[in-house]
Amino acid sequence: MYQNTDYRNRRYNQARTQKYSSSRSRSRQPKKAFIHPSKFVQSAKPITKETYISKHNFIDFGLVDLIQQNLQSMKFQIPSPIQDQAIPYGLSGRDIVGIANTGTGKTAAFAIPVLNKLISVHTSKAIILAPTRELAEQIEQQCLTIGKTSGLDGALLIGGVSMRNQLSDLGYNPRIVIGTPGRVKDHLERGSLKISDFNIVVLDEVDRMLDMGFVQDITHILSLVNSDKQSFFFSATLDNRVKKIIESFSDKPIYISVKMGETSENVEQNVVEYSSVNKIDKLHDILIDSNTTKTLIFDDTQKSVEKLSRELVARGFSADSMHGGKSQAQRQRVLKKFKTNEIAVLVATDVAARGLDVSDITHVINYSLPQSYEDYVHRIGRTGRANKVGHALTFIEQ
Ligand code: ADP
Ligand code: MG
Repeated sequence: MYQNTDYRNRRYNQARTQKYSSSRSRSRQPKKAFIHPSKFVQSAKPITKETYISKHNFIDFGLVDLIQQNLQSMKFQIPSPIQDQAIPYGLSGRDIVGIANTGTGKTAAFAIPVLNKLISVHTSKAIILAPTRELAEQIEQQCLTIGKTSGLDGALLIGGVSMRNQLSDLGYNPRIVIGTPGRVKDHLERGSLKISDFNIVVLDEVDRMLDMGFVQDITHILSLVNSDKQSFFFSATLDNRVKKIIESFSDKPIYISVKMGETSENVEQNVVEYSSVNKIDKLHDILIDSNTTKTLIFDDTQKSVEKLSRELVARGFSADSMHGGKSQAQRQRVLKKFKTNEIAVLVATDVAARGLDVSDITHVINYSLPQSYEDYVHRIGRTGRANKVGHALTFIEQ
């Protein structure tokens, strides 16, 4: 229930104590694309005063009082550019394709119009899909805050956790379902979820979902929702595969793009040259620098991530790891520790590259090269958020 978040917190706590089967993410290691090292070097532009002037205040959108009040308690005062432009169309019922740099408030850009509709039109139902479990949880958290005290019933359908709580939540006929494509499909197949009367669909980070091989699941899910629906597609990047999905499942969508350049302008980007004998020492030197207070390190595989994390702990760093080989409960615990500064270094596979909103990460380190430039853009988008200057360092073999 969106009435009070305690109910959900309790449910999450119960879920955490259960034993989960460890689930492995779909991992693949295709050949990496060549990226010229010069693309990893760019100085951060000085932070200038807002160059974008919002046309609206939240109050201008005519939102239901409850959302208005919740936004105030969240200290959301001025809509971000993507929110400023997307919310009016979202409220008017248009299909939306929103493209904006990472960290610019895309979640609320869809969550506000979606929740406004759920609260004001009692027959409406929404399904929101995201590529990773963590992202789905983060979206749910934001929806719970924006929709607090609305009394809406919701369900979070993600893999790696037991079905029991999800089945119980589905028993309440939730009007807002948030999940990852795989688990949503499982529920559809079991018959525990029916979505033919769902008339709002959101796909967040849709390009990533396609990368992860979810194209068939998504197509299947989209084909089952009500044909008279409103859809939202949000992503930091737009390519042909994404366009194809959009074209087949939306009706004259409005494209809103407020992308400011490929990477966030407030990320200072540089390379670190290493030889096979000194790689870890180079990393050590960076981590002991006093400016490096919160670091996210990317490495290739579950195994290499685990190994590096152990090595850093042995060297006295407060580090931990996150990858698809860990249970969802472990992943949640580690992420929480990183968010609350219980650990200063998180070593991860690309499972942590997308969408995660951890404030105040000072450094993103590509200990191994990303698969593609696009993956690079997403990895480094974890720093330099909320107008802070961030640093991205990419290890290049000499
Ligand atoms: P994106 O999906 O574009 O990467 P998020 O939706 O995760 O970005 O938002 C990034 C951060 O900005 C979040 O912590 C969110 O709470 C905050 N935020 C979003 N919109 C606003 C706003 N209008 N005012 C203040 N903070 C905001
Ligand atoms: Mg996002």
